[in-house]
Amino acid sequence: MIVDYHIHLRNERGEIAHETRSVDPFVEAARAAGVDEIGFTEHVYYFRQTRSLWTVPYHSERCVYDLEAYVQAIVEARERGLPVKLGLEVDYVPGREEETRRLLEPYPWDYLLGSIHYIDGLGVDAEPRMIDQVGVEEAWRRYFHTLADAAGSGLFDSLSHPDLVKIFSVRAEAFDYGPVVNAIARSGIAVEVSTAGLHKPVGELYPNPDFLGACREQGVPVSLGSDAHLPDVVGRDFSLARELLRSSGYETITVFEQRRASQEPIG
Ligand SMILES: [Zn+2]
Ligand SMILES: [Zn+2]
Repeated sequence: MIVDYHIHLRNERGEIAHETRSVDPFVEAARAAGVDEIGFTEHVYYFRQTRSLWTVPYHSERCVYDLEAYVQAIVEARERGLPVKLGLEVDYVPGREEETRRLLEPYPWDYLLGSIHYIDGLGVDAEPRMIDQVGVEEAWRRYFHTLADAAGSGLFDSLSHPDLVKIFSVRAEAFDYGPVVNAIARSGIAVEVSTAGLHKPVGELYPNPDFLGACREQGVPVSLGSDAHLPDVVGRDFSLARELLRSSGYETITVFEQRRASQEPIG
């Protein structure tokens, strides 16, 4: 079994188009790429229902779409018999856990990805860049501290691009992943192996082999995703993801259904 559980629903021009017909090109691309099942994970901040959560302009300027329409597009595709799951990529906002939970509670999610793109108004992968404002060592410390809190929040089923802070290819010296991996292991949730980093300045998979190896040792399950914003990207570089998973000792990946996780042998 192979799945791509990190996909943003777009039309063929890459524009947001939360309609069930937008799903079909992604399913066709998945078939061509040998991917058995795909999951859509639109950014939570695109939806007006989540407006009250946002303080960063990047987020508050974008929440204009209807969450009902997005959910309906995927549910209809599922009812048409397509191998698709309903997810969402949810920015973790420390201190707003209950509000996040309440806003997302009405919808029939298969899984929720937890992401950290901003911390206290500073961008992990965007301007104003946290690494420029606070330095690399402090940026890494804050990022992984927040990731540990995201794991412990109980809001998420997997953590997307879990070492995103390395995106610009600057790294803290001899970083100790122990505390964050312990927190993830205690939470029982998965970490995502993402091929998106291969196409960013860092030019690597997320996460680092050291991080993933520590996750394996502690029994943390993995999900898998390309972070596709276009059908062509579904399943991209999954042979490299398989290699990383195997070399880290993983033999199964996580399949989600209605927020229940099960393990399937990696195909
Ligand atoms: Zn993301
Ligand atoms: Zn994404």
